[in-house]
Amino acid sequence: MRKILITGSLGQIGTELTMYLREQYGNDNVIASGLRKEGPDYIFESGPFEIVDILNAQQVADACEKHNVNTVINLAALLSAVAEGNPQLAYNINMNGLFNILEVARERGAAVFTPSSIAAFGPSTPADNTPQDTIQRPTTIYGVTKVGGELLCDYYYKRFGVDTRGVRFPGLISYKALPGGGTTDYAVHIYYEALKQKKYASFIDKGTQMDMMYMPDAIKAIHDLMEADPSKLVHRNAFNVTAMSFDPEKIAAEIRKHIPEFELTYDVDPVKQAIANSWPNSLDDSCAKEEWGWKPDYTLETMTIDMLDKLSEKLG
Ligand code: NAD
Repeated sequence: MRKILITGSLGQIGTELTMYLREQYGNDNVIASGLRKEGPDYIFESGPFEIVDILNAQQVADACEKHNVNTVINLAALLSAVAEGNPQLAYNINMNGLFNILEVARERGAAVFTPSSIAAFGPSTPADNTPQDTIQRPTTIYGVTKVGGELLCDYYYKRFGVDTRGVRFPGLISYKALPGGGTTDYAVHIYYEALKQKKYASFIDKGTQMDMMYMPDAIKAIHDLMEADPSKLVHRNAFNVTAMSFDPEKIAAEIRKHIPEFELTYDVDPVKQAIANSWPNSLDDSCAKEEWGWKPDYTLETMTIDMLDKLSEKLG
C-alpha cells in the first residue's frame, strides 16, 4: 500500500491532488505538508498534515519516518515569475530542496514524483510540436532548475535505483486555489475577471501561444504516471504532456460564447512576456501517450464551460 507525502501541498496543484489521492488510497495514507498550517480546512480535517520545509532535510526525513512514507510527491517550488524575482531562493528551493527529497528517498527506498514544466525548454528549442527529446537551454532561473531537476531525478534512478518520475506540465488552469505566480496565470485570472468585471487586461500579449491543461487532467497525469508499469517507461524525467494550446484572443473568444460582452485588453508585463516568448508554442506528448497511456479529457471548449460554471458557484 502506498504511503504518500505531498510537499507544498497547500498550493494550486496540492490542494486538489491531496483530496484526489485521499479518495484513491485512503485519508490516512496521504500526508499533506507545507511551510505553515494555513490553507483550506478540508485538507487538515480529512487526513494527516505535517509542517515540512524541504530545505530542512531532517524535517523531510522525520515526516517520512513518522508515517512510514514510501512515495514522495514533491510540489514545493518557486514558480516562474516569482523565481525570476528571487533567483537565489528559487535555486535553493527548486534544486537543494529536491536534492533533500531524493536523498531521503534513496535512504528509505521511496519513489519520488516531481513535476517539471514547459519552462525546461528555451528559445533554441523547436517551438512547434516540441519533441520529447530536444534542445533544453532555458533562459530563466525557473527553467534552469527544472532542467537540473530532471537530470538529478534521472541520475538518482540510474545511479541508485530510486523510482523517480515526472511530467513537464504546461500552464495549469483551476478554480479551487489561485495559481502561485507563474507566467500562464493570466489564463486563470481571465475567468475570474470575466465573471466579476466582464473585462480583463492580459499581462501576456496577443498572439502568444502556450500549452495549457485543466487541473483534473493534471491530477490524472500524476496519478497515472505514478501507477504506470515501470517496464514500459523508456523516459522518466520528464514527460511532455499537454491538453491544448492557445493565445489570449482564443481563450477570450471561447469565454465570449458564454459572456458575449466580455472585453479583452492588454497591459503586458515585460518580465512575464519575455519568459513566455522563450517557451514552446505546443508540445508533442506522443511518448507519454505511448509509454503510459496519457490522454487528456478536457479541451478549451469543455474546460471553459466547467470553469465558468464552477467559478460562478464559488464567487456567488
Ligand atoms: P504553488 O506555488 O501553487 O505551490 C507551491 C507550494 O510550495 C506553496 O504552497 C509554497 O508555500 C510551497 N513551498 C515553497 N517553498 C517551500 C519549501 N521550502 N518547503 C515546502 N514548501 C514550500 O505551485 P503549484 O502550481 O502547485 O506547482 C507545484 C509544482 O508543479 C511545482 O514544481 C511547479 O514548478 C510545477 N508546475 C506547476 C505549473 C502550474 O501551472 N501550476 C506548471 C508547470 C509546473
